[in-house]
Amino acid sequence: MDKETFRYYGHEFIDWVADYFEEVEQYPVRSPVRPGEIKAALPDRPPLAGEPMETIFEDFREVIMPGITHWQHPGWFAYFPANNSPESVLAELLTAGLGAQCMIWQTSPAATELEEVVMRWLGRMLGLPEGTSGVIQDTASTATLCALLSAREKATGFEANLTGLDRPLCVYTSEEGHSSIDKAVKIAGYGIESLRHIPTDDDFAMIPEELEKAIENDRAEGLEPACVIGTLGTTSSTAVDPLPEIGAICSRYGLWFHVDAAFGGTAALLDEKKDLLTGAEYFDSFVVNPHKWMLTNFDCSAYFVKDEEALIRTFEIHPEYLKTGLDAQVKNFRDWGIQLGRRFRALKLWFVIRSYGVEGLRDMIREHIRLASLFRQWVEEDSRFEVMAPVQFSLVCFRLKIEGADEEKLARLNAELLEKVNRSGRVFMTHTSLKGRYAIRMAIGQRATEERHVREAWDLLTQTAARLLQP
Ligand SMILES: *Cc1c(COP(=O)(O)O)cnc(C)c1O
Repeated sequence: MDKETFRYYGHEFIDWVADYFEEVEQYPVRSPVRPGEIKAALPDRPPLAGEPMETIFEDFREVIMPGITHWQHPGWFAYFPANNSPESVLAELLTAGLGAQCMIWQTSPAATELEEVVMRWLGRMLGLPEGTSGVIQDTASTATLCALLSAREKATGFEANLTGLDRPLCVYTSEEGHSSIDKAVKIAGYGIESLRHIPTDDDFAMIPEELEKAIENDRAEGLEPACVIGTLGTTSSTAVDPLPEIGAICSRYGLWFHVDAAFGGTAALLDEKKDLLTGAEYFDSFVVNPHKWMLTNFDCSAYFVKDEEALIRTFEIHPEYLKTGLDAQVKNFRDWGIQLGRRFRALKLWFVIRSYGVEGLRDMIREHIRLASLFRQWVEEDSRFEVMAPVQFSLVCFRLKIEGADEEKLARLNAELLEKVNRSGRVFMTHTSLKGRYAIRMAIGQRATEERHVREAWDLLTQTAARLLQP
């Protein structure tokens, strides 16, 4: 492609994205295509000769777009948000244009040093202890895997890296811990049988006494506890584990304490939510996803560690072909995680923090929390519905209830309600199970979501429920 064609399509695509941001509300939030439909519309073999951009772009609009689920839709209330922003998208364009592979300092000093600076900013914005070091990972799943690998090495005096694990090491999280923990426990060599799911209280938060009991049990059986993962904002209901109590237990038993704050951590930007990080002096590692609730395009996951030496000793490699004379003076982020190659992700985070300012980000989060509290109020005021979990941030778990109905019937009824509402294309919500009870999740966190969108979701729910409940 020559420069002028690139310029032409560059402008075309920016126009397209700008219009998309404005018109995204007109699309059905969840893609209505059936399994196999997109594949069937695509040729089985690649073209031998190159095709013009016009044709490719047309296929993008005609073939690909119908199979897109619109995460940036203001009616996005499913899972958690992955909100982006125009500022972040522009930064991603520059990152792609530079095409820099930022594995070590020398391969782009600015990428490494900007990452150090924005992560220090973010650590301070959240209120993490001074001296905490940060690195950007692709996802919270990867960050949690890094934490479990560092915990494994710390527990074995960095022997497991040399000889492999010669004894079981135990890991603890609550029964509401994210599935990425199970996955990481498996692949980090602990073995899933060494993972303990600690019971939770009525608010779905880990019970510290139960944690301590499990640790004592394992020790009594000659097993070795190594790591505890607390959650700040569980995926099902955004429950917050009692982090100071858990931290004190970890400190007493000498265990690595990792905190998964993938979604909820962003709320610690607010002065009125600073107590979320009480006990932060106990955290060995902490992860929060700016790609969820902080306007930064997927992917961007902020991983913080208290002791960067433990992280580096776990991952460092020194092949001759990567050595430089400056290694003693600089950070080489290849040694701060799993992969060698690294994208320049700090740029978009820098663009976002600078253009919104800390206050701008706080305003958005406050507004989402306000909308969730409004929605919860509507649910509470309607006797046909019930709230299923405390509303800590901007997620409301609720369901339609019927006197005398068993759990199975309630699950069927609410699944039907959810599917009917989602089929409208105006909103998209998902569900979960809380101690065996079906709940619909209303997760608010889209940049473009306004009160009218939340109202529309509630109207759809109540109208559909009225039809479902008709005798
Ligand atoms: C979303 C989420 C994750 C997984 O995040 P990824 O970045 O997609 O790996 C982990 N833990 C919690 C609590 C989450 O909400």
